[in-house]
Amino acid sequence: MVETKIIDGKQIAKEFREKLAKRVQKLGSTPKLAVLVVGEHPASQIYVQNKKKAADSVGINVDIYQMSATENEENILKLIAELNESKEVDGILLQLPVPAHLNAETLIGAIKPEKDVDGLHPQNVGNMVSGLPAMISCTPLGCLYLLKQVLPSMTGMHAVVVGRSALVGKPLAQLLLQEDCTVTQAHSKTRNLADLTKQADILVCAVGKPGLITGDMIKPGAVVIDVGINRLDNGKIVGDTLFLEMLGKASYITPVPGGVGPMTIAMLLWNVIKAAEGHYSDCKDLILK
Ligand code: NDP
Repeated sequence: MVETKIIDGKQIAKEFREKLAKRVQKLGSTPKLAVLVVGEHPASQIYVQNKKKAADSVGINVDIYQMSATENEENILKLIAELNESKEVDGILLQLPVPAHLNAETLIGAIKPEKDVDGLHPQNVGNMVSGLPAMISCTPLGCLYLLKQVLPSMTGMHAVVVGRSALVGKPLAQLLLQEDCTVTQAHSKTRNLADLTKQADILVCAVGKPGLITGDMIKPGAVVIDVGINRLDNGKIVGDTLFLEMLGKASYITPVPGGVGPMTIAMLLWNVIKAAEGHYSDCKDLILK
């Protein structure tokens, strides 16, 4: 029986934000994040307010550009162009998802890469894969930070990342490769998922299916990062793993909520500060002095 420790993302994110606040003070100016919201998707409204609250706590200003659900692409592109040129604005974030009549790739592609604090611009993705300085998307960066709290070295470890989205799975697999892990990426067409997950020293689940990973699918002592956020019929929020079954098997696990989620927002703030400092986010600079 393994003693399972909980990775307290909420507390770790709080301590990280305190370091960020000190870094903002050193800047001598107030960084600014522009958040573009198209439509009134209820979850997006909550996410945006959470980002604003966290930004306020470290001294970052947030301007929210709330547009109607029918706003046309041309107008949004015009706004992005203005924000790209503005000396006041350090970071630009397009709140996803956008309504179906809009093309998220076109809009993200119009954001200046240096201001793309979500790290989704193709130039940032390409740079990140090439190991060049890049804005790196916030959730993978948050997962890496949490892993680094419990695993100072990941060299040679087998990391299995379940999920291959552009937002989470793919960039995280790349970051783990850069940490010298041996990486396996699983997805919906993967055969015999359990055969792979049982080999993982580090198991990341970023799928969005409650209960996908059961206790008998993990190797004793594995470090489990549960990215999934799923709302059950009874209103409870859970991850992709059966949390109770992980206890006594995993050496470390992130809870849902209170694991990866708070770190995602903290990493957004980190990207804004790096943009305001005039250089790209560099994951090697993650452990803030
Ligand atoms: P996507 O829906 O974009 O991607 C899900 C991935 O899971 C896909 O690659 C899909 O495979 C794979 N998948 C689906 N079913 C299975 C299966 N049965 N076995 C293995 N793989 C499977 O989701 P996201 O990556 O955006 O998000 C994943 C989860 O993380 C969601 O619950 C989301 O809410 C949460 N999330 C949490 C964040 C946080 O801050 N904590 C931030 C972002 C997301 P395929 O490619 O073949 O379709």
